[in-house]
Amino acid sequence: MRRLGSPFVREDGRRLLLSAHSFVVQTPQTTIVVDTCVGDHTPRPMQGDTRFIHRLDATIEGGLAAVDVVVCTHLHFDHVGWNTQRIDGRWVPTFPNARYLVSTEELAATVADDHMDVIGSSVQPLIDAEVLDAVASDAEIDSSVRLRPSPGHSPGHVCVAIETEAGTALITGDATHSPMQFAFTDVSAEFADSDSDQATMTRDGLVADLLDSDTLILGTHFPTPTAGLLRRDESGLVRFEGVT
Ligand SMILES: [Zn+2]
Repeated sequence: MRRLGSPFVREDGRRLLLSAHSFVVQTPQTTIVVDTCVGDHTPRPMQGDTRFIHRLDATIEGGLAAVDVVVCTHLHFDHVGWNTQRIDGRWVPTFPNARYLVSTEELAATVADDHMDVIGSSVQPLIDAEVLDAVASDAEIDSSVRLRPSPGHSPGHVCVAIETEAGTALITGDATHSPMQFAFTDVSAEFADSDSDQATMTRDGLVADLLDSDTLILGTHFPTPTAGLLRRDESGLVRFEGVT
């Protein structure tokens, strides 16, 4: 197998490097947070960055209260953690003025099988507060931002497509965990796509649309460089070329 090399694999070449990101999208009309990482107050894997929410608050003009929409690409623990925070013994929405969006399919599938134990802490409190909207997986958020159906990693997974006069971008969610999966679309994450064949079709569709385009790819689990473009190298391999 050809070596893909750093920065996306460890020096021994045997393990992938992953990170977890939230993205803030600010259009003239809307401030959107896409995914909320692992969160706090729960015994979840990968926990540890308790300062995250303070940095996010400082990053957004107007702070957490200025967020209009929170998109959950899917309902896995590393994407919904800061949907809520625990205050005085109760889970409450972290973004006090936001509508939270999840695809109808994803919500139904997670309610039916909450294998990551996210409903109680990260979803039900939003339903109780009447701020969770189950939407079509191609829903339009505003004139610049819409969801893109991308099932396979989970039943109702969505990517987030951004289209402005300045350019286009796509937030991957977990349609891909590593840029390697653009080159080898049938490689599934160790922690399993819920439907590997469907996930492969989703990645094939992404490569078909994004290869040699100017769409900036924002990888939810890609370490730096997290943003890049898809190009084919001289050997024919699809490569993610980082943009910093
Ligand atoms: Zn993930």
